[in-house]
Amino acid sequence: MRKKTQLIHGGITGDEKTGAVSVPIYQVSTYAQDGVGQHRGYEYSRTGNPTRFALEELIKELEGGHRGFAFGSGMAAITAVLMTFNHGDHVIFTDDVYGGTYRLVSKIINRFGLEASFVDTSDVKNIEAAITDRTKAIYVETPTNPLLKITDLEKVSELAKQKDLTFIVDNTFSTPYWQNPIEFGADIVLHSATKYLGGHSDVVAGLVVVNTEQLAEDVHFVLNSSGGILGPQDSWLLMRGIKTLGIRMEEIEENTRKFVEFLEGLPEVTNIYYPGIENHRGNDVHQKQARGNGGMISFDVGSGEKADKVLRNVKYFTLAESLGAVESLISVPAMMTHASIPKERRAELGITDGLVRVSIGLEDIEDLKEDFLQALRK
Ligand SMILES: *Cc1c(COP(=O)(O)O)cnc(C)c1O
Repeated sequence: MRKKTQLIHGGITGDEKTGAVSVPIYQVSTYAQDGVGQHRGYEYSRTGNPTRFALEELIKELEGGHRGFAFGSGMAAITAVLMTFNHGDHVIFTDDVYGGTYRLVSKIINRFGLEASFVDTSDVKNIEAAITDRTKAIYVETPTNPLLKITDLEKVSELAKQKDLTFIVDNTFSTPYWQNPIEFGADIVLHSATKYLGGHSDVVAGLVVVNTEQLAEDVHFVLNSSGGILGPQDSWLLMRGIKTLGIRMEEIEENTRKFVEFLEGLPEVTNIYYPGIENHRGNDVHQKQARGNGGMISFDVGSGEKADKVLRNVKYFTLAESLGAVESLISVPAMMTHASIPKERRAELGITDGLVRVSIGLEDIEDLKEDFLQALRK
């Protein structure tokens, strides 16, 4: 089954009993048992719910894994995955991971004795150098936020296999439509489904896909014990969003390509970061492991004041955190998502005050171009 068909026909579709073509929302907490311990697959909705299960089957198939799990947010999903490790274990992370992941690992999970190193994973040698005899996993984002840095999934996976480490990938930016890390040897793939998968800025959710039964048991044990599950309404809403993921990603790809070309022609704009640009660092690796470049672009407009002016004057770009929605979003990482990072550290990372990040949506590209230009030159 090809991807676009899988988005519609994958997982569990409809309802056998009534013929409903949409999965019913099982708004239920508990299930009648036929006898003590004799249930029909469901006992209690924290453990399992049919609507959530339909979504979990769908994401499992989309990522080509063994089992899927749905959580109340991307952060709940990441927390559950990290809770499968033990006190004293060590995990190596991409240094510019999502800010919330950094906060979770450095302020909460660390209190339970999980040790972490943050390294530039775009060079596998840095990962290798950080491995200790307590290292249990490598956790990667590719492309990253906001500079779209690329990590070679195949190379990291070879290293992980050689050292017997679990290889975890946050695939939020690429979505399963463009990139499937399990194909390249990842063991666990996770998503903030709040972004492209949901796609309409109306649901917060997280998804995890694992590639072995052992990992499935480990993650489900944490999910069932700690309870960060996704409710049936939001599970349904997410499946509804996923049905159009293919056409949305195709259209976003086209819009983004045109917007990058437009930016390249503007003298005010420098340092465009986009994995689809030939001289973008890691472009060759990205083209090898992904089928599309996505809708995230970062670029420099010269100064914090200019960035602020652009953000104040755009009409069709919504000034907001988050990404991956039908509406185009715009932000200034130095003042928003990355404000908590000290200025010197931001400069080291290349996150300048004039860096603007956009998430291209589904508006007419000519309107987006005109809108950006009037805001830039006002
Ligand atoms: C948003 C995001 C998260 C966190 O997900 P929530 O759904 O907001 O909890 C994790 N990773 C990446 C890459 C994200 O963009």
